Amino acid sequence: MATICDTCHAGCCRAFILQITAYDALLISRDIGLPLSEFVTILSVSPEQFPNTIAFSDTGLQDQRFVLTLKKVESTVAPSTKKCYFLQEWQRIQVIEHRGSHPGARTIGRCGIYGSRPLMCQVYPSSLDGTGTIGYVVSPTNKEASHEIYSVCPEPWSAASFAKEPAAALHSLSLYGYEKNFFDHAIAEWNRNPGPISEFMAYMSNIYENRLRLGASVT
Ligand code: SF4
Ligand code: SF4
Repeated sequence: MATICDTCHAGCCRAFILQITAYDALLISRDIGLPLSEFVTILSVSPEQFPNTIAFSDTGLQDQRFVLTLKKVESTVAPSTKKCYFLQEWQRIQVIEHRGSHPGARTIGRCGIYGSRPLMCQVYPSSLDGTGTIGYVVSPTNKEASHEIYSVCPEPWSAASFAKEPAAALHSLSLYGYEKNFFDHAIAEWNRNPGPISEFMAYMSNIYENRLRLGASVT
């Protein structure tokens, strides 16, 4: 079943900060063959808004906290606005009339790394309930849009259309929960004795390469 995303201008890939995990970054780097420095950046954020933020020891950064995110670059269809580094975009020749003046009527945006996109992108805009068994989708809003291109979903979501494959969507949500939890633990370890930015991804890469071990678990 098709979803609105298939024909949308991808306002969510333009407007929001996409918090990725080291797993996402390392997978994209491996699949696309790009060095991490090409597409990953760190963003200084408020710990109140973003739980499990990263600390660094570099001079001038010790009082700040950071998240990993994908770089943003200038949009070609909406100059002076930003979009995800990986978002491909075009102006439609035939507009979608019933979307009226919404940018999703005239513009289309598609993920350029769809098969390797971060887990947060895969599950957006859905989440699991408290028991981890039922998935929910909530129509996103962006009331602070400074440009129309940052508007999100051109049509309302329905529960029936939130996933092409409901089981696959739930599996993605479960995997997202696992990877987020794993990265949170890895960040907590790093933050016990934070090093410089230049060492962070090598530290994470080592953890991820060694997380499947032979032998009995230690509890
Ligand atoms: S990786 Fe793809 S889905 Fe995720 S924000 Fe970028 S363009 Fe959008
Ligand atoms: S979640 Fe909304 S804004 Fe993002 S691609 Fe889908 S329909 Fe468009």
